[in-house]
Amino acid sequence: MADFHVLVIGAGATGAALAHDLTLRGFRVTVVERGEVTSGTTGRHHGLLHSGARYAVTDPEAARECIQENRILRRIAQGSFEENDGLFVALDDEDEAFAETFLAACAQVGIPTQVLSPKEALALEPALNPQLRLAIRVPDAVMDAMRLPLRFLATAKRNGARVLPFHEVVGFRFQGRSVVGVEVQDHIHGRRYTLAADLVVNAAGPWAGRVGQMAGVTVPVQPSPGVLVALPRRLTNMVINRLHPPSDGDILLPQRRYTVLGTTAWLSDDPDDLPVPEDHVRRILEAATAMVPAVGQEPVLSAWAAARPLVAAHQNANGRTISRSFLCIDHAEEGVEGLVSVIGGKATTARLMAEAAGDLVTHKMGLHAACRTRETPLLPHTAYWQSAVRSQQ
Ligand SMILES: Cc1cc2nc3c(=O)[nH]c(=O)nc-3n(C[C@H](O)[C@H](O)[C@H](O)COP(=O)(O)OP(=O)(O)OC[C@H]3O[C@@H](n4cnc5c(N)ncnc54)[C@H](O)[C@@H]3O)c2cc1C
Repeated sequence: MADFHVLVIGAGATGAALAHDLTLRGFRVTVVERGEVTSGTTGRHHGLLHSGARYAVTDPEAARECIQENRILRRIAQGSFEENDGLFVALDDEDEAFAETFLAACAQVGIPTQVLSPKEALALEPALNPQLRLAIRVPDAVMDAMRLPLRFLATAKRNGARVLPFHEVVGFRFQGRSVVGVEVQDHIHGRRYTLAADLVVNAAGPWAGRVGQMAGVTVPVQPSPGVLVALPRRLTNMVINRLHPPSDGDILLPQRRYTVLGTTAWLSDDPDDLPVPEDHVRRILEAATAMVPAVGQEPVLSAWAAARPLVAAHQNANGRTISRSFLCIDHAEEGVEGLVSVIGGKATTARLMAEAAGDLVTHKMGLHAACRTRETPLLPHTAYWQSAVRSQQ
């Protein structure tokens, strides 16, 4: 197995989980990342470990994946989550009427729920709007968006993976119609060179389409940016969602001493062009204030945007209607051997995406090695830096 070298493009949640998956299967692995690790979408999301409840009604496949991974990650990455649960709050007639559909959909995909009276919900979360009609408790949690992928990378490095930050893929090397490596620009040393590989996996998130273009293949990724807002104080101890289909500004969560609010969704062709429209920030603040009135008293600490790497859907889709599930693509189907892409999903489902991509890689190489990531505990995130220090000594 160690004779087979797999090169992974992108050190976001997906590339990090994949490096871990492939090293456990015994492959030799190199990860190249154009910036610092997690500098793409992964380092900028809310940090919500989804229970899947948000998607249960509109996107049951993604919901099923989320609840499965929520359970696995709590097991293999103990200590990485604030296991505080989430509340979906009903504020008006429409929300209240949605409760029945929501509960049935959660039950259908195996997400445990608990209906709380206003009094019970306020006892748990005194900052909630006292006019709430009811709340539904689900196993959401909060994670550190950067440290969880670092744990995947730390474990992969300990198992032999090479991680090269500030190495941007600028072209592909071919033998006939087979990819045999990539051309990288090393931004640290200002040099360009070729890295040979038996197989390349494009895990470049919202940039996966651009990376695919360099190899002459089509990757159906649809960048879908969204805005996030941080407040300088922790207002709740639980994740708060509005009890309605996914919409703008309906998530509020505590991140250590801060509060993060999100989000909006639109479609874009350029994941590097991420404006933060004023009206999005305003809409997010209004929607969050309806759930937690104290939001309206707080100054904005910062606001930023990130682009989801969604799987492109039908023509009339928008950033809300495209599924949060994922796709692995073998580009041999369009005549290019030795190249696989993995797109879509959530940070919550990165391990599952890596399992599917790892299965495809193993199958393509005609090998047999089962995925072991479901049971393998991850090293702490600090081990990522420890192994970096060790390798410099
Ligand atoms: C506003 C918003 C909020 C979200 N909130 C949540 C949440 O709370 N919970 C959750 O589970 N999910 C959330 N998501 C989804 C989640 O953030 C993404 O699905 C996930 O981070 C994508 O990870 P990735 O590794 O596929 O992509 P990325 O993290 O973008 O990684 C791809 C990497 O490839 C690198 N790259 C690109 N081109 C090249 C190249 N040529 N050479 C080398 N490297 C290259 C990039 O620099 C980048 O680091 C949110 C997304 C958005 C937009």
